[in-house]
Amino acid sequence: MERATRIGFLLLSLSLLLQGIRVSSTSPSIQINKEYGESVTARTLKQEEDHTHKVHCSRERSRAAWKIIDEYLMPFVEQEQYQIPSGCRLHPDNDLFRDQEQHKVHVDFSEWRCGYCKKIFRSEKFLDQHFDSRHSNLLNVSNGKCLADLCVALHCDLVMDSKLQKSKCNPAAAARNRHICESLADTCFPVNKGPSASRLHELFLRQFCDAHTCKGKQKPFSRGGRKKTSVLYLIFSILTLMLLPIFYLIVYLYQREMKSGVQNFKRISKVGRKTKSS
Ligand SMILES: [Zn+2]
Repeated sequence: MERATRIGFLLLSLSLLLQGIRVSSTSPSIQINKEYGESVTARTLKQEEDHTHKVHCSRERSRAAWKIIDEYLMPFVEQEQYQIPSGCRLHPDNDLFRDQEQHKVHVDFSEWRCGYCKKIFRSEKFLDQHFDSRHSNLLNVSNGKCLADLCVALHCDLVMDSKLQKSKCNPAAAARNRHICESLADTCFPVNKGPSASRLHELFLRQFCDAHTCKGKQKPFSRGGRKKTSVLYLIFSILTLMLLPIFYLIVYLYQREMKSGVQNFKRISKVGRKTKSS
């Protein structure tokens, strides 16, 4: 009997302790939850509601496609000062999510702000969900605006680190993707539109289309991309910035030492002269 009450007391104190921990862990995040403004249940309900007119275009894959275009195509387009025609599916206006993506503000490591209503979110994923539920009316949903559709031509899997790359090459699929890729080159960079267009047409084929084959080991993005500051370079600059003040401090201390040494010498020689004259 006594043992049972002791166990009961132990369990009670344990649950109280756990509750205490839970309270202390939630209290700092209350502010954040308020900022999220919506409970989980409300959100799921809303998601179900919105499911009826959901956009059938992957935001994630569209983002990957945009990343590839921005990194491996735009530097060359800018260099040629070429205007991509609006009929080209690579044109920024033909990316359904472009406007929303441009309204993402990455404030901090764990702070993302909605550019439309200024709400704060803990991660990009939550902000994406917020866009889907609250600002989907801003999407210009019309045919041919899903950038994710071009992923098969642009090799999105390579930047999305998916495991699909390892799958066996299918010659029919490779030929189909190559065709999509080549027709993109034709509509975006028509060879009869001048030397810039034909140069970019050529580049597009080498950069994206050549790799759509099961023969050989052709790699996409063979012409390189936007120059990025490497991590090594960053570390080197930070180290230099840190070491520079130390170097100057050493120089300063050394010079001060030298000066005081000279002064001491002067003082000694002065004293020596005085004793001599007296
Ligand atoms: Zn918003």
